Order: sequence, then C-alpha cells, then structure tokens
Amino acid sequence: MKKLFFSLFWFIFVSTISAQKNIILLIGDGMGTTQFFTLIEAKKDNAIEQFTHVGFQKTSSANAFVTESAAAATALATGKKTNNNYVSIDPETKQPLKTLVQLGNAKGLSTGVVVTCDITHATPAAFLAHSIHRRNYEDIAESMLNTHPTLFIGGGRDRFEKRKDNRSLSDSLKKQGFQVLYTLDDILKTQNPKVAGLLFDVHPESMVNGRGEFLKPASEKAIELLNQNSKGFFLMIESSQIDWICHDNRFDDLIPELIDFDNTIHAVLDFAKKDGNTLVIVTGDHETGGLSVLKRQEDVMFSRFTTFDHSPVMVPVFAFGPGAETFSGIYENTEIQKKIRKLLDL
Ligand code: MG
Ligand code: ZN
Repeated sequence: MKKLFFSLFWFIFVSTISAQKNIILLIGDGMGTTQFFTLIEAKKDNAIEQFTHVGFQKTSSANAFVTESAAAATALATGKKTNNNYVSIDPETKQPLKTLVQLGNAKGLSTGVVVTCDITHATPAAFLAHSIHRRNYEDIAESMLNTHPTLFIGGGRDRFEKRKDNRSLSDSLKKQGFQVLYTLDDILKTQNPKVAGLLFDVHPESMVNGRGEFLKPASEKAIELLNQNSKGFFLMIESSQIDWICHDNRFDDLIPELIDFDNTIHAVLDFAKKDGNTLVIVTGDHETGGLSVLKRQEDVMFSRFTTFDHSPVMVPVFAFGPGAETFSGIYENTEIQKKIRKLLDL
C-alpha cells in the first residue's frame, strides 16, 4: 500500500513538473530569412534576437515545390503535407485532418487564433476549419462551427452574417456559447474566454493604411483569457499581411507591418518570461517575393524583390522557453506540429 501511494505521488509529481503548459506559435505570413533580417535591421530593440534557439523549415507542399499559404498552414496545423489550396484536407483520402486546435481541445487545453486578416483566410482556416479549397470562405466559416476553439479574433464578419444562404452563423456561434464581439474595446473588457471576435467585414487595413494597435493588444488579451485554464493553452497568432505586401513588392510598406509583428512578439515573450512554462515559436509559412537586401545607407535599406509570387527557400524557426532546443536543426514544416504535439502531449 505504502509503495502504491509512493508511486502515485511520484507519478503526479513528475507529470506536474514535466508538463508543458502553453505553446504560442507566431506566424509571419511570407517571412523568410530576409524579411526577418529586415525586421532586425529596422528595429534595434527587436524581439527576434532574444530567441535562444533557431532552426530552418522546408516549406514545399505535397504537390508543389513552391507552396501557398493553405498547404503551408495545413502542415503547421496538422503535421501532414497537402496539395496547394487544400485547407487541412488529406491529399489522398480527401478526408479532414485533425488540427492542433482540435487536438488541444481533446486534451482539455484552451485554444485560440488571432490574425490580421479575414478569419476564414488560408492560414487561420487551416487551424480552425477544413475545406477542399481556400477560396470557399463561406464554407470555411461554416466548418469553423465544428472545431470548437476557445476563442478567435480577426476579420471576416461578412462570411458569418452576409452569406449567400442568408443564414447567420453568428447565431450558431452564440448557441455554442460564444460571445460574438465586433470591437477590440469589447474584447478587452470581457473576462469570458469564449470569444468570437469578428472585428472587420473582411480584412483589417494594413499598417500603412491605418490599422493601428490591434495585433498586440488582441494577442495579449487572448493570452490572458486562455491562461485561465490551468491545463494550459495553444495559441496561434498570425501577422497576415506581410505576405500581401511582399506580393506587391512594396518594401517601404513592409517595415511598419514587420514592426507591428515584432511589438506583438515582444509582448508574447514578456508573458513567457514571467510565466516560465510557455514555449514561444516564431516562423514564416513560406517566403514571399524572393526578397534580398543589398545595402544600407544611414537608415535607408536598398532591397530587391525577384518575384511577385512565393519562393521555395527555407524559412527560419525561432524558439524560446521550455522545449526550445527541439526546434534547432533543419526539418520539414510538418515536424513543427509533431514537436508541438510531443511537448503538449497531444
Ligand atoms: Mg496568411
Ligand atoms: Zn502569398
């Protein structure tokens, strides 16, 4: 009997100290090494240089050397490569693949997604939904009713409320216990973590067009709400528009977007340092624009884009916190999800 009590005590002790509580994955859409370098050069007090471990991920999709964001996010969310434009759908069986949000829920963790785009856009969609094509925005909104995240914050209100089928998916969300909120102020005021934040009809503005402070306060609030769960949480934060600006080869407009992302990373790192039980991962889903930085005169960087599309080059992965060392090395994008599962015991 004594022996049994001892083993029970030991089991609880070990599982408590070895349990990875929280993982926050930050994705800069379209960020390869040069975009991260640009951020580092543009912001001397950047958060990126505080990360302790760095690796590289290979981003090709199941059917293409050059991926797009749905297939890339599917790899990150499900640990399986799929065809370009598929949203967390298996390329062979055409069946839905379980995402980190679903796997986290099944283990009793809180789960969340915060983005600077329509919440049904490719990257968040791969964590929150399943669809055979990324452009099926209204179907993706409907599919989001089946994955039960604790919270999500972004744009895309029209996908839920101005639909071709005239249904209100916001009513369906409310029936599932969500508060459907339309302003950042309302989100910042709530203490109830079940938040469906639909803050923009479709996408928010870019930073140069006046988005202002959104990603950082929304992410900080998401952390506060998810952290109410003592079992831990998984949160994905995306700076979505870096990719779009690189598609347009607008280097000057890229910098404010990168600084906004870095401010958010800074806030997340501050939380992780205080908490001590949170792993922070920062990466891109692929590189966009084939960007090079050529020289710098005073504060002006001279750059060149080589394509309006994505490029296939490896993308850096920065990690900080318990388990960070497992992100060193060179690996396929699907390994990131597998490492997260292992650390969270999903
Ligand atoms: Mg994206
Ligand atoms: Zn793109």
